[in-house]
Amino acid sequence: QPFIRALGVGKVYGTKDEDVIALEDINLHIDQGELVVIVGPSGCGKSTFMRILAGLTPATSGELWLKGEQVTGSRHDVGVVFQSAVLFPWRTVLENVMLPIDVQKRGRKQNLKRVKDLLALVGLSDFENRYPAELSGGMQQRVGIARALAHDPAILLMDEPFGALDAMTRDHMNVELQRLWATSHKTILFITHSIPEAVFLADRVIVMTPRPGRIAEIMDIDLPRE
Ligand code: ADP
Ligand code: ADP
Repeated sequence: QPFIRALGVGKVYGTKDEDVIALEDINLHIDQGELVVIVGPSGCGKSTFMRILAGLTPATSGELWLKGEQVTGSRHDVGVVFQSAVLFPWRTVLENVMLPIDVQKRGRKQNLKRVKDLLALVGLSDFENRYPAELSGGMQQRVGIARALAHDPAILLMDEPFGALDAMTRDHMNVELQRLWATSHKTILFITHSIPEAVFLADRVIVMTPRPGRIAEIMDIDLPRE
């Protein structure tokens, strides 16, 4: 059975003036350990789909299944990274990554090694006692990625995570993300409006149409990587 399965997922936003059909009839399945990219123009419903996957907003039609369980409309085991990581300025890098552990009252001591491993994974071991203001934008985003993984979620959802970074840093982060994916075996869903970024990152790219968002095509990318 697939790890994630969407069956006819749709979303209509009711506003004062009109109903906005943001998503229509999204059907897809994602296997455990896949890195899948959803690409499409601005406004096609990518963020809406991600918020549905994260359980942050309900779908208005269809079903969402996770690990063989229907999770439509409920919160579940995901880590989420948005365009810019909102870090707490008075917490160190290590304490920022500890946040989900603090929130879930899992105990810092028991999780210290995990968190340090995550900081190593994102290349920030030497910065664990620094404060966010001392870090570059790319480094802050890496703190956000480590934090999203701190509670060991089954799925990592990333919504234009490098969109606010300059082109060179973004390319570097994409290489780093591939390395993280290859070593962590996480199931990652990555959203972008950049086709080159999508093709670089993923083996499978889901292309969406402009409003209302529908799946136009699912491309299997089979390029040799250096
Ligand atoms: P919630 O508090 O349920 O998360 P939002 O913060 O997403 O809702 O949006 C609050 C209201 O702002 C919505 O009901 C909608 O009318 C309006 N809104 C938010 N984002 C958009 C958007 N991208 N396009 C149009 N209207 C929006
Ligand atoms: P994308 O992430 O691809 O840019 P979104 O999921 O943010 O697309 O938005 C899809 C469509 O739904 C857009 O037309 C947007 O204006 C609309 N929309 C998003 N959020 C809301 C909201 N809370 N209320 C009303 N309309 C919204």
